Order: sequence, then C-alpha cells, then structure tokens
Amino acid sequence: MQGQKFLVTGGSRGIGRATVLSLVEAGADVAFTYRSNQEAAEEVVAEAAKLGGGKVVSFLADAEDYAQAKQTIESVKEALGGLDGVVLNAGINRDKLLVMMAENDWDDVISTNLKGTFNYARASVYGLIQQRSGRIVVVSSVSGLIGTPGQVNYSATKAGQIGMVRTLANEVGKFGITVNAVAPGYIKTDMWDEMKEATREKVNLTIPAGRPGTPEEVANTIRFLLSPDASYINGSVIVIDGGLSA
Ligand code: NAD
Repeated sequence: MQGQKFLVTGGSRGIGRATVLSLVEAGADVAFTYRSNQEAAEEVVAEAAKLGGGKVVSFLADAEDYAQAKQTIESVKEALGGLDGVVLNAGINRDKLLVMMAENDWDDVISTNLKGTFNYARASVYGLIQQRSGRIVVVSSVSGLIGTPGQVNYSATKAGQIGMVRTLANEVGKFGITVNAVAPGYIKTDMWDEMKEATREKVNLTIPAGRPGTPEEVANTIRFLLSPDASYINGSVIVIDGGLSA
C-alpha cells in the first residue's frame, strides 16, 4: 500500500482507529476525521507515528454536514497530495425498542450514518471519477442484513448503506472505481466492553466463533478491499461476524 492515500471517517476510536493504524503500517498515507475527542485523535496520530509507516493527519469534521465533508476532502488532498480511496466508517447507534424511540433517536442515527455516508461519498466521488481510479469502502453492519430488536433506526441506516454501495458500484464501476461494504457483527470496541458480563456471555453463545471480533479483524478486510488484490470486487458486502448471521 506504499504511497497510497486514504481517508478514514471516524478514525479516533474502535474500527476506524484500527483501520488507520493498519493502513499506516502497510505504508499508506492516511487522513482521518473525528467528531469531538481531540485527545483520542492525537493519541492515534502518536500511535501511528510509532509504526514508522506512512504519514497520518487528523481532521475535526462532523460527517453530518456536507459543506464540512467537501472542505475536508479538499484539505485531505492537499495534506496527502492526492486521494486514492475513502473508508466511510463514522457511525453511531441509539438502541431502543421502537415503542421507546424518540424522533431524535431516529434523526441523529440517520443523519450520521446515512447522510454522513452520502456526504463523504458525494464529496469524494467526482475526484475519483476524474482520476479514473479509486476505492470506496463503507462500514455497514450485519444489522443491515438481519434484524436485532432495539435497532430499528440503526438497521435502517445499515441496510441503507448497503443499498447505496450496490447502486454506486453500478454508477462508477466503469471509471475504475470499486465500492464495497463490510458488515461486521459484534466487535470488541467500547460498546462491547460496556455491556454487562452476563450479556456478553449470552451473546457469545449466539456466535459460532464463540467470541466477538476484534477491530483489527475488521481493519484487515478493509485494507484488503483497498488493496490491488481486491481489484475485481465491486458492489459486494463482506460479512465479518464469526458466523453469527449464518
Ligand atoms: P466508535 O464509537 O468506537 O467510533 C466511532 C467513530 O466515529 C469515532 O471516531 C467518532 O468520532 C466518529 N463519529 C461518530 N459520529 C460522527 C460524526 N457525526 N462525524 C464524524 N465522526 C463521527 O464506533 P465503532 O464501534 O468503531 O463503529 C465504527 C463503525 O462500525 C460504525 O459505522 C458502526 O456502525 C460500525 N459497526 C460497529 C460494530 C461494533 O460492534 N462496534 C459492529 C458493526 C458495525
């Protein structure tokens, strides 16, 4: 991945953070965005620098805002000297059963996950079309493929992202651009660690692998989709869930 240039949205924590580190380690130059936690972002930059791979820069930018997305894409191109691909990872959840779900639980999740994906895909795709090459990887979820109680809002966004990926793959495949999604299951991020021990044990019983995945296991697949080895994979959804949805 030496010399390749990528943007990862939501790179200060979890899967995004692991993706940034994985790409930098592979020699790529990486920019990432984050919503608010500057300290966490600085920690990722410092961690990446220790790897001795490619360059890494961070940008405070809200995925919900198209103007910020457009400005960020321009700033990334300037900072890295180009852009070969984007990983649209920034996402949130506000899990509640529908009877308890407030309007803003719906709006916030739609706005970050679905509009945020639109914003960065839209802001980056024209440049990729012009250069006749590029990669777009969207971090969806198995919740976009199977239903989980309490996730009406989240599932709608994750299924919506898969629809966007398949449609966009059709629109831009002819320009040498691939558009794919990864659909992780339970992953050991802060959300997992915050669950009660008894709940974690119950969940583990539903996963054939018997454990949650690691952010690195998701990052490895994202890195593969960005690499030359994945040149003929377009419009696909790669499930990374230890067999949960099987
Ligand atoms: P996380 O909460 O650990 O990190 C989220 C990142 O997104 C942070 O860097 C945060 O700053 C950023 N972010 C959130 N809202 C933003 C906004 N409006 N603008 C800009 N940045 C914003 O999340 P995670 O668990 O690593 O999840 C990352 C992605 O993976 C999400 O899209 C999530 O839906 C998906 N996913 C996660 C899991 C899991 O088990 N953790 C499973 C399946 C899918």
